[in-house]
Amino acid sequence: SFHQIRKNEITQRAHLGQGTRTNIYDGVLSVCGSSGNDDEAEYFCTEQNNNGREMHVVLKVLDPSHRDIALAFFESASLMSQVSHVHLAFVHGVCVRGSENIMVEEFVEHGPLDVLLRKEKGRISVGWKITVAKQLGSALSYLEDKNLVHGNVCAKNILLARKGLEDGSVPFVKLSDPGVSFTVLSREERVDRIPWIAPECIRDVGNLSTASDKWSFGTTLLEICFDADVPLKERTPSEKERFYEKRHRLPEPSCRELASLISRCLNYTPVERPSFRTVLRELTRLQPHREDLVDVTSVNPD
Ligand code: ATP
Ligand code: MG
Repeated sequence: SFHQIRKNEITQRAHLGQGTRTNIYDGVLSVCGSSGNDDEAEYFCTEQNNNGREMHVVLKVLDPSHRDIALAFFESASLMSQVSHVHLAFVHGVCVRGSENIMVEEFVEHGPLDVLLRKEKGRISVGWKITVAKQLGSALSYLEDKNLVHGNVCAKNILLARKGLEDGSVPFVKLSDPGVSFTVLSREERVDRIPWIAPECIRDVGNLSTASDKWSFGTTLLEICFDADVPLKERTPSEKERFYEKRHRLPEPSCRELASLISRCLNYTPVERPSFRTVLRELTRLQPHREDLVDVTSVNPD
């Protein structure tokens, strides 16, 4: 269930990078006015057409794949098309262009969070990081309420609509689509997602649940705390697997404020991980707003 986009509605521009079995391009989506009645469904794009709108998008072109991979890619597009949240990237739909399957997603201006963290290493405040954590938490709490699983939460998949690095400005992030679900990927590709992928999903991909997103959220917060220095990055695949098998703990973060929250998300027992509602409440407590202070005074008049 997603909007189907015609191939003449998209323009492919520069290559931006590669993802999991995808190539990503900068692009334009031209939503055109229809000519005459709807039955004809004749769409046209001309400069004179005032109904036409051009939008900056990314085109995620799936590599030629087996049917199950393509289905998993469509499922991801479908998930993102069902939801609407300020901190979730907007997916316009899917375009089938010959043998190519293309996801059309809003272009989020300042790119992925991991790149920014690396570039600004050591210069990003704890307050900034808590704000980003809160925005991500609110998107995941929204998905949790709808019983939807993302399945690929990591700093690379968090995009910055606003950097918020100037004085008085705040960051604004959007969680990107999960792409091809790891449930259809090879064991090697799943192991490669350690330490983001929840341990129970290495044993059995059928264990993917909202609880798995909590583990990934915990690892993502660690990534943010360490300015995108990823724990276990240098380890071999078998070392990574052994790390989970032995139930080792990931390193303590440098931001003390987030340490307890992170360690509760990184619990090897899925049911013991906190709900995103709880996560959100704690993050809000770490960074009170002026409105919250007003609230507190009105609730406690003494
Ligand atoms: P995965 O499913 O593993 O996340 P992917 O196909 O989403 O794979 P990524 O590695 O997440 O690919 O993205 C590749 C690059 O494309 C990113 O590093 C970023 O530069 C760019 N990119 C992806 N999505 C967007 C977006 N919505 N807006 C702007 N740039 C994007
Ligand atoms: Mg991605």
